Amino acid sequence: MSLLDYSAYEIAEKIQRGELSAVEVLEAALARIAAVDGRPGTLDYGELTPEDQSKVHAFITLTADRARQQAESVDMRRKAGEKLGPLAGVPITIKDIFCLKGVRSTAASRILSNFEAPYTATPVERLEAAGAVTLGKVNLDEFTYGSSSESSAYQPSTRNPWDPSRVPGGSSGGSAAAVAAGEGWLSLGTDTGGSIRQPAAFCGVVGLKPTYGRVSRYGLIAFGSSLDCPGPVARDVRDAALMLSVIAGSDPRDSTAANLPVPDYLASLDRGVKGLRIGLSPDFMRIAFPDPETGEIVTENLANEICDVTLRAADLLAAEGAEIVEHVPLPNIAFGIPVYFVISRVEASSNLHRFDGVKYGYRTDEDYSDLHEMYRKTRAEGFGPEPKLRILMGMYVSAAQYSEHYYQRALKVRSMIRADFNAAFDPQGPYRLDALLAPTTPTPAFKMGDIYGDSVLMQYADQFTVPANHAGVPAISLPGGLSSEALPIGLQIIAPDFAEPTLFRAGYAFEQATANEAWRQAKPRVLVEAGL
Ligand code: GLN
Repeated sequence: MSLLDYSAYEIAEKIQRGELSAVEVLEAALARIAAVDGRPGTLDYGELTPEDQSKVHAFITLTADRARQQAESVDMRRKAGEKLGPLAGVPITIKDIFCLKGVRSTAASRILSNFEAPYTATPVERLEAAGAVTLGKVNLDEFTYGSSSESSAYQPSTRNPWDPSRVPGGSSGGSAAAVAAGEGWLSLGTDTGGSIRQPAAFCGVVGLKPTYGRVSRYGLIAFGSSLDCPGPVARDVRDAALMLSVIAGSDPRDSTAANLPVPDYLASLDRGVKGLRIGLSPDFMRIAFPDPETGEIVTENLANEICDVTLRAADLLAAEGAEIVEHVPLPNIAFGIPVYFVISRVEASSNLHRFDGVKYGYRTDEDYSDLHEMYRKTRAEGFGPEPKLRILMGMYVSAAQYSEHYYQRALKVRSMIRADFNAAFDPQGPYRLDALLAPTTPTPAFKMGDIYGDSVLMQYADQFTVPANHAGVPAISLPGGLSSEALPIGLQIIAPDFAEPTLFRAGYAFEQATANEAWRQAKPRVLVEAGL
């Protein structure tokens, strides 16, 4: 067994006990990166070689020297008998949407290509204070806008370790691919409409979107401020619980970070599911799509292999003592994507105003005769197509003459989606659910190039993840099985506000119940082909 086969929890334990050194763990992670990652994303990438097409390309910036210093300091502190943090010596990666002091923080955009953050984001600071060793910054869709990681200005964009001709999902594609390929044990991602859970599902790893406000957004380059949630990407449920316990908690620098104590997430793991009421909803078992002609929402059945993962999980949890409640209505989640289209674009366009070439980031090299021309050229050159589209749409639907019709209306429908979840979870209501089970995505990972360019179709990859963002509730995606093409399929569990312990209980119970199944032994193709 290679030390790369241990979980983050086990690695931390072994380092604490002196059975492994942080430096040797780091060297193993760096060797894995050298073996499978290929060249990091750059702005001037030229032609893709056949070699490029077989590698993972999770990274934008590798911080190996900085990581060596961190690992050496963990080993020194251990030798000196100091108390180590819960992640001491565990190599991790950070989605390049978080600021890390002194390191370039690009948001995968040309407009921030020269931006060195003057401070460190709170969740990153907490990970490092807990002893985690940062391997570097990983790739994503430009400004997190996308579901495939293909829109990054830094190419080659990340590929799926299970099949490098496919996308890793997005926008935290670098995070999910890095964890799946063993390039670091944990990754910090963000989820605005599904950006942690969808890539976790595509890459066969665990991804958690915490309750809105559970984790501080300070130092996160903002997309949709009312939706953004930093959260863990990990190999298993226990590692996700361990990571959340480190990053969660109030923060005087983010007034939306909840002032609630952080429970002992690890303690919730083996409490089992006996007595939990777990719901299934027909509204999570079909794809809802606006007819391009009429605009009416039409529905289509989901592929059987996707539904089956969720239904089988319900059976397994029932066998463990959970009570399964069927036919829970969530009628308004069918409007999740249209509403997200409007709200997220309005918030994105507002948040992108600050990138103007004045105080930091890229500024045009062309001549300009006044400030407006400088702005115009900087933004035209600095933003890729996806941010430009989102600015245009966000400005349009929030303009005074259209706001009532689009933005204000979207906010109302968002409240109706929240009300659907409230009714399902209401302890006095007819369903009284502790959690809901649902697929994470309508399909397994798709081929690179297949959807990129169609921003409406791309958005529908988030169909089942976006409702939890609208409602603010926590949701986890776990590997649930493999498709007929041997691609990972995700299982999603959704719980009421701040009920992350329920997600861990149910997720862990599912993991235990399926621990010996054949699909759990399958490895990503990139690793198999490299003999790893
Ligand atoms: N894929 C979604 C989008 O394009 C979600 C992105 C995210 O969660 N950051 O907006």
